[in-house]
Amino acid sequence: MSMQKVVVCKGSDGYNSTKKSLMGLHIDTGKLKNKKILIKPNAGRLVDKDLGINTSPDVVAGVIDFFKEAGVHGLTVGESPIMGVKALNSLKQCGISQVALERGVKLLDLDSAPPVVVKIENGKVIDRLKVCRGAVDADYIVSVPVIKTHMHTQVSLGLKNMKGCLYKKEKVKLHQLPFSDKIIPPAKSLDAAVADMSNILLPNLTVIDGTIAQEGLGPSAGAPVPMGVIIASENCLAADWVAVRLMGFDPVKVHHLQLAIESLKRRSDSFDIDNDSLVVEPADYMKWKVDLKSPPKKISLEFLNVKVEDKDSCSACLSTVLMFLQRHYKDFADYFSEENPLHIAIGKGIGKQPENALLIGNCTFNQKGGNIFVKGCPPVASEIKAALFKKIKK
Ligand code: SF4
Repeated sequence: MSMQKVVVCKGSDGYNSTKKSLMGLHIDTGKLKNKKILIKPNAGRLVDKDLGINTSPDVVAGVIDFFKEAGVHGLTVGESPIMGVKALNSLKQCGISQVALERGVKLLDLDSAPPVVVKIENGKVIDRLKVCRGAVDADYIVSVPVIKTHMHTQVSLGLKNMKGCLYKKEKVKLHQLPFSDKIIPPAKSLDAAVADMSNILLPNLTVIDGTIAQEGLGPSAGAPVPMGVIIASENCLAADWVAVRLMGFDPVKVHHLQLAIESLKRRSDSFDIDNDSLVVEPADYMKWKVDLKSPPKKISLEFLNVKVEDKDSCSACLSTVLMFLQRHYKDFADYFSEENPLHIAIGKGIGKQPENALLIGNCTFNQKGGNIFVKGCPPVASEIKAALFKKIKK
């Protein structure tokens, strides 16, 4: 086993590719017998499988069977979803519950027990986080994310997936930090916060599900793209590095990944993580690269005559707005123009809004004034639609 090793498998069968990639790592599973293993998929949204939003159940099944066949039985599948979603519901809807229960593996709502406050030594922007007890108690964590683009962090992969081990609203905290002079732009506070989180929540094993990836308006309103790859490594940052390259992006420009690599090197004698130092099997893995569409810099580039102010929102409200626009834009687009755009605002940090702006989520309450306020944490897309159409009809 080498911490520098990353295995990439290509194939249409996510289950077999997952097992093959894990076998290629030669993990020392003997030390894991009688240990508590937490499998952390990305299952934070209440959606069906095969959309490139939640982890494929076939990949989770491949991870479970790999460990069980190696005699490792202390497995649990756990999640702490985005605000407004219950873990057991999202795990069920995307099919992960079924594959886990069929194999006698427990499901865990990570928000069901009181959290543990864990200190972060030398964090750039955070010094402690409330971590779910199920993650703190685990001896070994397997991060099983989906390959996705992300409007806030460019990509969402193995490291970002660990945010789903933060207790309930603690996830929001990472999005609402003030700018710090310790951060060099264009990196943002959120990038530094995800890197700080890596000091305490770096998984032991990462299996990245690229069976169906997501491009564009990620993490939930982008388009699914069949990539047919699985990427596995005992080094999460190395796995993420390779996944970013396979998405057609430059890992050096993914700020949370760069900051996490720097942080790891500062606190350990970690090797470099770059194209020269990683050992990737097969060496010619870039033949499987699929150039995914980047997340747009501005939502108005995708939706004409819609202006969105997004200041310190979390993924839950961002996802709601993107879903609302994706589903209902065509129904209201004709009512707005360049001179009279639809203003939408999300997040705690927004300023005063033009009259009749749509203010979405409880975080925007203080600016509500004469605007249209849609309460909820987050609200759902149908509530936003109802509020907007009430305004249009007036
Ligand atoms: S209102 Fe929206 S941005 Fe604020 S915490 Fe709730 S989901 Fe996040």
